[in-house]
Amino acid sequence: MRKPFVAGNWKMNTDGRSSIELAEGIASGSVDAAGQSVTVAVCPPFVYLQAVAKAVGTSNVAVGAQDMYFEPNGAFTGEISAAMLKDIGCVYCICGHSERRHVIGETDELINKKVAAAVAGGLLPILCVGELLAEREASQTDAVVTRQLKEGLAGLNSEKLSAVTIAYEPVWAIGTGVTATPQQAQEVHELIRNLLTGMYDDQSARETRILYGGSAKPGNAAELMGRPDIDGLLVGGASLKVDDFLAIIQAAV
Ligand code: PEP
Repeated sequence: MRKPFVAGNWKMNTDGRSSIELAEGIASGSVDAAGQSVTVAVCPPFVYLQAVAKAVGTSNVAVGAQDMYFEPNGAFTGEISAAMLKDIGCVYCICGHSERRHVIGETDELINKKVAAAVAGGLLPILCVGELLAEREASQTDAVVTRQLKEGLAGLNSEKLSAVTIAYEPVWAIGTGVTATPQQAQEVHELIRNLLTGMYDDQSARETRILYGGSAKPGNAAELMGRPDIDGLLVGGASLKVDDFLAIIQAAV
């Protein structure tokens, strides 16, 4: 049985004060919203990670980073390693978010190195995959998601896979207010689970959590998570409001 997982991606939002207020509000409300029955994480900007980790304290809210670099240390100006993230209390790390793929220009090869380094460093990576609108319109969704999944997980055995969460995030649905229908999302989630069966085995595929992301909000969260292969949500905009994020957590119960 896969435990539902709701993660908030704050992107390049909040400031010192609002990040703590948001973290405290989520931490104090999430037990009422879901008890221990939902895995909850928030992913603030790097500079607020430590303060947010302190603010969530021993609550059931874990902290994740939005990115990391694959090298352990050295001359990589501006980059942050898995060990540094672990050192300040990070549990998760988003890898290959569409904004990193399409705005910053990250490749599948680079993302794969990050996923592998995250696992090796004791973090739990959330590997994001998803097609552009033009790719969906050209019926390339399955091909794109298959490539991103296979290349993103290259070299990871089933034991390492058990540390990984997959997030299906169609790029056309991210930050646009246009959500994939539960049916559209379920189809791709089922594809991903079938791919995992082929790449690994039945058990690994059954145990891997696959989140949906793309304009998820309180009003559509329950219906999305009601589909058999949608195990939770990666939430951008709606994770910046305590009440909305708590309502989404509640919908996962
Ligand atoms: C995201 O950034 O991962 C995301 C899903 O954003 P939004 O919920 O705002 O579409």
